[in-house]
Amino acid sequence: MDQSKILILAMIGLGLFPTKNVSGQEKLHETEKMTPAMSEFWDPQPEVVVPGKSSISAPVPAPSDAEILFDGKDLSQWESANGGEAQWPVVNGILTVDKKLGNIRTKKSYGDFQLHIEWKEPENIAGDGQSRGNSGIFLQGVYEIQVLDSYNNPTYNAGFAGSIYKQFPPLVNVTNPPGEWNIFDIIYTAPTFTKNGKYRTSPAVTIIHNGVVIQNHTILLGATVNVGFPRIKKHGNGPVVLQAHRDKTETNVSYRNIWIREL
Ligand code: MG
Repeated sequence: MDQSKILILAMIGLGLFPTKNVSGQEKLHETEKMTPAMSEFWDPQPEVVVPGKSSISAPVPAPSDAEILFDGKDLSQWESANGGEAQWPVVNGILTVDKKLGNIRTKKSYGDFQLHIEWKEPENIAGDGQSRGNSGIFLQGVYEIQVLDSYNNPTYNAGFAGSIYKQFPPLVNVTNPPGEWNIFDIIYTAPTFTKNGKYRTSPAVTIIHNGVVIQNHTILLGATVNVGFPRIKKHGNGPVVLQAHRDKTETNVSYRNIWIREL
């Protein structure tokens, strides 16, 4: 059974179903106190695929019509999600997460887009499971594409690198070892909403990881959350957000060569 069916059956089993509140907004009623583990499914683990190496040895140059979000120089296209300037360190052309400073986001908001982003776990990566090199790329600030060291690091399947967090695992696991760059090419179609705040058309994501399709026009179920099940919340255009994951490990994910094309 595929992940979405399991998720929907689990929602029914736990007494979660969409209803309407007085304001007409869709809401999930929960009859049981949720824990993070209730939305974590470990089987099957994504099969490992080794990517072709020649395609990922150097940054992939942006095409002529791309908007450059980070080219190694500065964070002028970004701001702190807490307000003010983005202050994650940029050293030798590489941007590295600083967990203490919180998430950063693009100053500009986007609808449909193609996003190219490269990320790397440090060679001295520490921790395990979700506390091993966890970051993430939030599309329109709402839908998290997981970034994690998924090289020999078992966790629940919709928590692997390239998962739609807690909704859909990657089709396969193409994650390079720590110290090597990974490439995500993300093609995103924004949702449209009814006036009642339901999806008229759902958001959809395709992801190519190191040259391999890991999400194939995946239809998202709602905003990605850690506790509970996906929630549909009405939103418009939004920023690309990079996550400073709150965990106690001192090793951090790095990014480079980020560009976007509006579609
Ligand atoms: Mg994350």
